[in-house]
Amino acid sequence: MQIVRADEMGMCFGVRDALAVLDRIEAPASVTIHGELVHNGDVLAALDRRGFHQTPERARTVPATPAVLITAHGISDRERRRLRAADKQLIDTTCPLVRRAHEAAQALQAEGRRVVVIGRRDHVEVRGLVEDLRDPIVVGEAGEVTSWPEARLGVISQTTTQVGRAEAIVAAIRAANPHADVRVVDTICSPTKARVAAVDALLARVDALVVVGGRDSNNTNQLVARGRAAGVATVHVGAAAELDAGWFVGRRVVGLTAGTSTPDATIDAVHARLRAIAATAAAARPAVAGPPGAAPAPRAPQRTP
Ligand code: SF4
Repeated sequence: MQIVRADEMGMCFGVRDALAVLDRIEAPASVTIHGELVHNGDVLAALDRRGFHQTPERARTVPATPAVLITAHGISDRERRRLRAADKQLIDTTCPLVRRAHEAAQALQAEGRRVVVIGRRDHVEVRGLVEDLRDPIVVGEAGEVTSWPEARLGVISQTTTQVGRAEAIVAAIRAANPHADVRVVDTICSPTKARVAAVDALLARVDALVVVGGRDSNNTNQLVARGRAAGVATVHVGAAAELDAGWFVGRRVVGLTAGTSTPDATIDAVHARLRAIAATAAAARPAVAGPPGAAPAPRAPQRTP
């Protein structure tokens, strides 16, 4: 069994930068992480051990600690004002690409457009985006699009939206609202696009795909959907221990990719476990006798570190 890693995968710069800020904080007990920093249980448990307070879902109550860390997903300006009014010191790790989506939404609204946000309405990033808008619309699927009375509409996307899904929703908006002037700003982030392009290239070469990432990670789930839509057997795991060797029986080439909140160590552990599964399968394969005088059958590949 051969294992091929995607050219682009795993943690994006936005999450890495947020974690780097956390690394430099000297008094974790005085800080509440406002919402889930990454959709990864191991990382959250490590932050817990360091003494950070965490609100799993961004709570409506003001945290008790003197400092509040805003995650890479960002928050609304309304929320920021609420925290400042409570005299909280804000440590802001909002990703610049999420900030760009906020600015695009505000600019569209300033043009007199009703803003449509393509994304998951229960996702923390989308909640932050819509809280600053007047009567926003959130659309998760093309089937949810309807005709709206406004003559001017502005469309943005959650940064981790799959490009194809966004395009289908935009087409549906234009079709259902022929009376409206529709302006679309592409706010899907470049790391998300790069990871999707890399998994597409991988899917052409593999007969199975392993996707590593949290169950709540939007872009991880999209990589899984991408694999399944391409007709490639796809398994989603959060950690190496979840890999079942039986699932790989008969697989020849297995692709490996990961969502933007997956730490390098988790990916490497999954890769090592895949190599171990491949080595065990190769060792168990019966040797094929060659014709008289032929070279001996190749040895099973050795497990590499
Ligand atoms: S997924 Fe994109 S927008 Fe979100 S933190 Fe990473 S780089 Fe920023």
